[in-house]
Amino acid sequence: MSALFDLTGRTALVTGSSRGIGNALARGLAAAGATIVLHGRDPERAEAARRELASEHGEDRIHAVAFDVTDPEGAAAGVAEAEAKAGTLRILVNNAGIQHRVPLFDLDPADWDRVIRTDLTSAFLVGREAARGMAERGAGKIINICSVQTDLARPSIGAYTSAKGGLRNLTRAMAAEWAASGLQINGIAPGYIHTEMTQNLVDDPEFNSWILGRTPARRWGTVEDIAGPVVWLSSDASDFVNGQTIFVDGGMTVVV
Ligand code: NDP
Repeated sequence: MSALFDLTGRTALVTGSSRGIGNALARGLAAAGATIVLHGRDPERAEAARRELASEHGEDRIHAVAFDVTDPEGAAAGVAEAEAKAGTLRILVNNAGIQHRVPLFDLDPADWDRVIRTDLTSAFLVGREAARGMAERGAGKIINICSVQTDLARPSIGAYTSAKGGLRNLTRAMAAEWAASGLQINGIAPGYIHTEMTQNLVDDPEFNSWILGRTPARRWGTVEDIAGPVVWLSSDASDFVNGQTIFVDGGMTVVV
């Protein structure tokens, strides 16, 4: 591998990496040489993911923590635990997220709050905890996993769309405040990716054919499609990229 993309000796925490996109991002970062802290809400699922990845890369390089990303105290303790286990963080991927499909007229305010806290507030909470140490050391990369809903609005996911739009601007706000301390903060906005979150959409023939027609690449994205861009944004190769959100969507957001 080119030294430009070599992450050997750098520790990465990937939130929501017990499964789905986050797990593929952790795998990509591990393949590039990073020491990994896997994470989920459910400790057993995070530990199972750790055991699986450690069987490929060794126990020394693969660790796991579990905490609720919506809880300010949990986020602080979780980042401290990650650093105690794996060393100071050089890379944080804010990936944990949920979706809730209900039209705005019927949306319970408690569900609105839960989505905003999980998909937006979490990046502020975990990001700020990780960034304090990164800023002291003068180096760090934060990648916020947005969505095509950052820019578009599908009916019935209004809270998700609002959170992901906010996450793009939080990415800009973090870069505006922390770039001078040697941090790069960027976003990746995936298109429709086949995971547990989207399984019901994959199984819906009407939605499935809408996606294939709406995506110039004529396919669903895979979790691996997102890993390369995240490795690049985690590496020295992207050191002058800051506050940007890059769409990885098979061209979905460039056609009407
Ligand atoms: P999954 O539902 O497959 O996985 C979600 C992950 O987030 C799990 O590891 C889960 O942990 C964790 N998580 C959820 N809530 C919390 C919480 N409160 N505290 C801690 N961890 C939590 O999702 P995807 O892999 O599909 O999505 C990952 C990210 O990518 C999300 O931010 C999503 O919005 C975004 N995205 C997904 C797209 C897609 O098409 N799939 C498209 C665009 C963006 P646990 O296993 O313990 O529940």
